[in-house]
Amino acid sequence: MPAPPSVLRGRIVVAAVAVGAFAAAQQTLTSNYALASDSTPLAQGEGAAAFGVQGKTSSQEVLPLADDADGSLDMEALNRAAAANARRDAREAERLRPKFVRPIGPGGQVSSGWGLRLDGMHWGIDFAAPLGEPILAAADGVVLNSGPADGYGYWVRIKHADGTITTYGHMYSALVRVGQPVKAGQQIAAVGNNGASSGSHLHFQVESASGGHLNPRAWLQDHGIQP
Ligand SMILES: [Zn+2]
Repeated sequence: MPAPPSVLRGRIVVAAVAVGAFAAAQQTLTSNYALASDSTPLAQGEGAAAFGVQGKTSSQEVLPLADDADGSLDMEALNRAAAANARRDAREAERLRPKFVRPIGPGGQVSSGWGLRLDGMHWGIDFAAPLGEPILAAADGVVLNSGPADGYGYWVRIKHADGTITTYGHMYSALVRVGQPVKAGQQIAAVGNNGASSGSHLHFQVESASGGHLNPRAWLQDHGIQP
């Protein structure tokens, strides 16, 4: 009779005796040695079918950790595997999430573009929207300003990794504080009609790292977003 795997030898002597009598069945039973050995010893006269049924009904996963009587090593291994899976899922979610978003909820529509108006240069684009429509961080960054600002009512400014600053204006309040990191798509405020504003809307403005104004429509489009 071939020797059983050494790691299991201590626990399966009884079962091995029984299996030895049914060499033909041995191939299918090999993976069940350990569990079989935990059960009541089988009499030599019991049939292979009975043994086979026993083996199959108890064919839960058997890890080859013969000395691990209380299962703690198995649990540690499972916990490590689960933690590794969670880290991998988190990396994948981070890779797949949008890094740029339209800075307003679906209720917002562009109502005024970037450029010269009768009252002077308009350094942003406006999204007309119902009061309370969510305002979203257009990209990851850190909150630079959050509070009252002349003409803007309440504003939020976010500095992004490349030095670009996005500005959101005319709110009554904000949901973020100075220094807070934010993610693209995170709600930072709600649409208001505060400051130099003749109807509820979001004023959205973009400045480059060097301080120059950028056309927000072009900036959004450069990052795959249709305003
Ligand atoms: Zn505006």
